[in-house]
Amino acid sequence: MRVRFLGTSSAVPTDSRGLPAILVKTVGDSILLDCGEGTQRQMIRARESLMKVDKVVVTHLHGDHFFGLMPMIQSLGILRKGSDLMVIGPRALMDIIRGIEEKTGSKPQFRVEFREIEVYRSFRLGRFILEFFPVDHAGFETYGVKIREPDRPGRFDPVRADELGIPPVLRGILQRGFSVKLPDGRVVRPQDVMGPPRRGSILVYSSDTRPTESVIRAAREADVLIHEATYLHELRDRAVSTGHSTAFEAGQVAEAAGVRRLILTHFSARYREEDLVKFEEEASQAYGGEVIAARDFLVVDI
Ligand SMILES: [Zn+2]
Ligand SMILES: [Zn+2]
Repeated sequence: MRVRFLGTSSAVPTDSRGLPAILVKTVGDSILLDCGEGTQRQMIRARESLMKVDKVVVTHLHGDHFFGLMPMIQSLGILRKGSDLMVIGPRALMDIIRGIEEKTGSKPQFRVEFREIEVYRSFRLGRFILEFFPVDHAGFETYGVKIREPDRPGRFDPVRADELGIPPVLRGILQRGFSVKLPDGRVVRPQDVMGPPRRGSILVYSSDTRPTESVIRAAREADVLIHEATYLHELRDRAVSTGHSTAFEAGQVAEAAGVRRLILTHFSARYREEDLVKFEEEASQAYGGEVIAARDFLVVDI
C-alpha cells in the first residue's frame, strides 16, 4: 500500500499546505480519503491521475474535508464520461451533491453512486476492505476508517521447486494457486512450494477527533496510524474545546494501540513548516515508535 498526502492543513490552507486529502493506492486500485478544497489541483501537481479517481471517502461534513468534491465531480464529467464514481460518507452528503446538481443543472455525464457510512461493518470496495468507526469530534458526526489490503499469496520457493523437479513452465500455475501434474504423474500442490500467505497492510485514519478508544481499538492491528494533530500541547484547551487532538495526545493513542508507525496530519494554519518537527518531538514523548509529521505530497509505503 502506498499513501500520498495531498493536503495536511486544517480548516484553512497555507502557502505550503492544502486542505485534507489522502490518496491510498494498492496494485491496480486507489481510494481518496477526504477531499478538501483544491484537492484536484494537488493531484495534478503530484502527477496523480484524476481520471483514475473512482472512490472517495468523506469522513465528515466540515467544509475542509469535502469542499473539493463538487469541482472534482465536474472535472471528471469533462474528462471521463461514462465511468462511475463511488462516494462514501455521512447521509447528508448525498443531499448536498444532489441539491447542487439540481439547483445548478450541472448533472455529470456519469453516475455518482453513494454509499452511506455504517459503523463496524467491514466491506470490500475494489481491492480494499474498509471498516468505519465513530470518533469524538465535539459531537459532530465524524468517522475514522480502517483500510486493509487483501492478503497476498506466500512467496514461491525456487529451491524447493528444484528439489521436486518442477519444470519452469508449470511454476507460474502453482504461483497462481493451482495444483499441477508432473510428467512422471506426481501431483504438486501450491502449498508444497509456496510460503504462508502474507498479510495485507492495514492503515487506520482517525479523521478529526479527540483521543478516543475507538481509534485505539482500530489501530491495534494496524501497520500505520494516521492521526490528526491540530495543535501542540500548549494549546490543549483549544484542542478540547474544538474536538481535536494535540501531537502529544496523538502519541498517547499510538502508544496505547501499540501501532508500528504514526503519521501526524491536519495541522492548524498557525504553525509553519519549521514547527512540524516540534509535532514529531512532542508525539515521541508519549510514543516509542516511528513518528512522521506529514508534509503535502509526502509518500509513505506501508
Ligand atoms: Zn478538519
Ligand atoms: Zn472537522
